[in-house]
Amino acid sequence: MSARPDGIDAAADVDWTRVRADFPLLQRQVHGKPLVYLDSANTAQKPGAVIEAVDRFYRQHNANVSRAVHQLGSEATEAYEAARRKLAGFINARPDELVLCSGTTFAINLVAYSWALPRLKAGDVILVSRMEHHANIVPWQLVAERTGAIIRVAEITPDGSLDLEALHKAMTPEVKLLAITQVSNLLGTVNPVREICREARRRGIATLVDGSQAMPHRPVDVTAIGCDFYAFTGHKMCGPTGTGVLWARREHLEAMPPFLGGGEMIREVSFEGTVFNDPPHRFEAGTPNIAGFVGLGAAVDYLQGIGMAAIEAREAELLAHLTEEMDRIEGLRIIGRAPEKAAVVSFLVEGAHAHDLATLLDLEGVAVRSGQHCAHPLLQFYGVAATCRASLAFYNTHEEIDAFIAGLHKVRTLLG
Ligand code: PMP
Repeated sequence: MSARPDGIDAAADVDWTRVRADFPLLQRQVHGKPLVYLDSANTAQKPGAVIEAVDRFYRQHNANVSRAVHQLGSEATEAYEAARRKLAGFINARPDELVLCSGTTFAINLVAYSWALPRLKAGDVILVSRMEHHANIVPWQLVAERTGAIIRVAEITPDGSLDLEALHKAMTPEVKLLAITQVSNLLGTVNPVREICREARRRGIATLVDGSQAMPHRPVDVTAIGCDFYAFTGHKMCGPTGTGVLWARREHLEAMPPFLGGGEMIREVSFEGTVFNDPPHRFEAGTPNIAGFVGLGAAVDYLQGIGMAAIEAREAELLAHLTEEMDRIEGLRIIGRAPEKAAVVSFLVEGAHAHDLATLLDLEGVAVRSGQHCAHPLLQFYGVAATCRASLAFYNTHEEIDAFIAGLHKVRTLLG
C-alpha cells in the first residue's frame, strides 16, 4: 500500500488485495457462500488496525478521561485527545473546534438545540434539500415547531441532482440556516457544497453540511468548503459505532449554550449556579466513548495510509463497473443518475419487492439494504415505497460486483 504525500495518490498505486485482507470480517461466509458486503453506506466494515486499537486500549490503558491524575487516567485522556487532533487534521480544522459525540444524529441535534433554538423566531426559514436523511430533517422540524420557523425544501431534478438554480432562488433574506448533505445516502449524488456554502455566506445564511456519506469516500476540507457546521459519523468511515463529530466555527461554539448538562462540561458547580467549561468540552457531558474514539483515530490513520484520493479513484472505478453491469439487466431501474455520484446505487426490479430482492440476495451471500433508507421525502418524489441499495467501499472487488450481478440474474429468474 502506498500514498504519496503530495496528494496525487492514484488507485493504481495501491495493492487493493492487501487492503481487503486487512478486514477480517470480509473473509467470512454467509449461507455457505462467500460474503459480498454491499452495505457500506449503512455501516462500514472495520480493518484489523481499528479492532486492535480498541482491544489494546481496553487491555492496557482503560480509565476515564480528564478526571484522574493517575497514570492510566492521563494515558486515556491523551489517547482521547490524540483522536481529536487526528480527526481535526483529517478535515483541516482546529482540534478545539471538534465536538466529539455519538454520531451525525447527535451532532445535528446539538446544532438544532444549542444554535438554532435560541436564535430562530417565527417567520425565519430553515432551508433543506429534498435528498436529506431524516437526521437532517426531523431536528429542524422540532426547532420549527418550537420557534414558529418554517422549513423550506430545495427540490431536485429527476436524475437526482440538486436544482441549483432553485436552491439559489430559495435563499431569501428569511433563510437563517441551510442544512444540506454533501452526498446523498440514497442517490449517491455529490452536491457542490463549496459553491453552495459560498452562495449562502454571501447572503448571510449559516450552513450545516451533513458529511456522513462524504467522509468515507473522498478528501474533506471543512475550511475549503466554508460551511459553519460539518457533521459526520465514525462508523461509516471504518471507525466504531457510537462515534461522531460536530465541527463548528469557533465563534459559534463560543456563543452556544450547553446542550446536555453533567460532568465534564462544567468548570465549577454550586447550587447557586454553574460555570460551564470552554468549548468543545462544554458539549461533551458525561463519560464519552473513549475506546470508540481511540478506534476512530486508528481509522483515520488507516484511511490516510491508503490516501483518500486513492480511495475516491478506486470507488469511481468500482461504481462504473457496477453501473454498467446493472444497466444490462432487463427490468432493473436505477434511481439516481446525477453526473457526480459516490458509490451508492439504489435500484428497483420490475415485479419484485425491494425486501424480497434483498432477502433472496442474502441467500446468495450478498448483503444489500432494502427499505426507505431514512429518506421518506425522497422516495415520495420518485413515487416508490422502497428501494434496494448496493453501496460500495474501497475494500470491495470487481469479482464481488460480478457475484452480485449473477445473484441478481438468479433472483430475477426466481421471481419472474
Ligand atoms: N445523514 C446521512 C446522509 C446518513 O447516511 C446517515 C446514516 N445513515 C445519517 C445522517 C445518520 O447517521 P448516524 O445514524 O450515524 O447518526
